[in-house]
Amino acid sequence: MNDVYALLAIALGPLLLLFGGIEWRIRSRERTMRGLKQQAEQLGLAEPVSLHPWIDPDRCIGSGACVRACPEKNILGIIDGRASIINGSACVGHGACEAACPMEAITLVFGTARRGVDIPRVDPAFETSVAGMFVAGEVGGMGLIRNAVEQGRQAARSVARSLEGRPPAPGDMRDLVVVGGGPAGLSAAREAQSIGLDVLVCEQDDPGGAVLGYPRGKVILTRPIEMPGMPTVPGPKLTKEQLMDVMEAAAEHVSVRSRARVIDVRAHPEHFEIELAGGETLSARRVILAVGRRGTPRKLGVPGEEQGFVVYKLLDPERYAGQAVLVVGGGNSAVESALMLSDVDGATVALSYRGAAFHRVAPETRGRLEAAVAAGRIHLLLESTVRRLDFGRAHLDALEGPVELPVDAVLVQIGGTLPTVFLQKVGILVDTHHGRRVIRGGTPPAGLPARPQ
Ligand SMILES: Cc1cc2nc3c(=O)[nH]c(=O)nc-3n(C[C@H](O)[C@H](O)[C@H](O)COP(=O)(O)OP(=O)(O)OC[C@H]3O[C@@H](n4cnc5c(N)ncnc54)[C@H](O)[C@@H]3O)c2cc1C
Repeated sequence: MNDVYALLAIALGPLLLLFGGIEWRIRSRERTMRGLKQQAEQLGLAEPVSLHPWIDPDRCIGSGACVRACPEKNILGIIDGRASIINGSACVGHGACEAACPMEAITLVFGTARRGVDIPRVDPAFETSVAGMFVAGEVGGMGLIRNAVEQGRQAARSVARSLEGRPPAPGDMRDLVVVGGGPAGLSAAREAQSIGLDVLVCEQDDPGGAVLGYPRGKVILTRPIEMPGMPTVPGPKLTKEQLMDVMEAAAEHVSVRSRARVIDVRAHPEHFEIELAGGETLSARRVILAVGRRGTPRKLGVPGEEQGFVVYKLLDPERYAGQAVLVVGGGNSAVESALMLSDVDGATVALSYRGAAFHRVAPETRGRLEAAVAAGRIHLLLESTVRRLDFGRAHLDALEGPVELPVDAVLVQIGGTLPTVFLQKVGILVDTHHGRRVIRGGTPPAGLPARPQ
């Protein structure tokens, strides 16, 4: 009898070990995912900003096919045997999860029950509730580069149709001003120009849109991109740098004004007045808003901020080698930027935050910050505010009184304002969507394709 037990143990032992190992790996992965989800919730990063998956818990069997199909990292994970959204704010709406699910448990939606997503109301020609004002790209709800480029092209054609048979624009009035120089705005401008319209793009930053802010070397997944008048850019994989080359080439033969932030658009019977930050006003017969969904970085509002050494995105930390950089802000982005800069050769980094502690920063990041401050790699100024920026010098009010810091660059990361505020200001009707279906069985918003490409 003992021999039988021994034989059974020999035969089943490896199997038990194998299944035990698998079970242990599944549980430890679930623990990691639960931790990441909690962290995302604490940091306010759990809620998706645009198109994202909704997972039907009654259908999901936890196969993990969606997790494997997602091209981004840690957006989806398995918790309690079901797929779950971990870091929703990083979802860009590829939709690969929906296609991969063997149980058809995933639907792409706009907004969640907790956080509505505001989408401008448009007709099939992309015209908004303000006659003559159109939208294109991610601001309309549908993300991805290829969709933005396609919508830009279609919006420009709609503009051209709406101007058919009308006399040319008088004086210095343009046919079209495009607000935003991302994939949608550049595509709209190129198409409009090829039709013969006089068009200007106003971009608050440099041309490139969200692509400009991708991390260095990021792999972009896309179906072929057809920028008007340019050779097709084949997918499925490109690097940020390759895509930026395309964006820069796209901006070359159209009129683009960089660092031109549009703060208001006022409708008149036959034209629009477009007001730029700084007070200048342009006029155009039509306007396309291609402002994306990432919003406008909030400014400090202090004298000297308009100078070129003040930036709002950390594009390439290595650029600051040997320089004195002041980072302003108390959120995750500001702290991560300060840490990245503190690793750059010869960079001197100061971090100014008006609060007394970093409540909105992940505990792990806080730990790294404390270590960098203790090691003298970051000069931390809590409860401080920037008063004035002169070339080469920043003036702050700090706990110990007025402080002057030598600076070569100032990086401001204090949040931003959402595009909805801008859309409402210019009079466009927006609808708030709380988990509205856009794919299976759902009605896509007017003018948008039934399925993201
Ligand atoms: C980290 C990350 C990774 C991504 N990865 C992929 C991917 O792999 N594949 C993919 O297809 N898509 C990806 N996307 C999504 C893709 O980048 C966007 O869907 C696309 O850029 C949308 O283009 P857009 O022109 O509509 O908007 P944006 O690219 O956001 O461009 C909008 C532009 O408008 C400007 N602007 C805003 N307000 C004003 C104003 N008031 N005045 C003047 N200018 C203004 C902004 O500065 C910006 O340049 C990713 C997005 C992010 C953030």
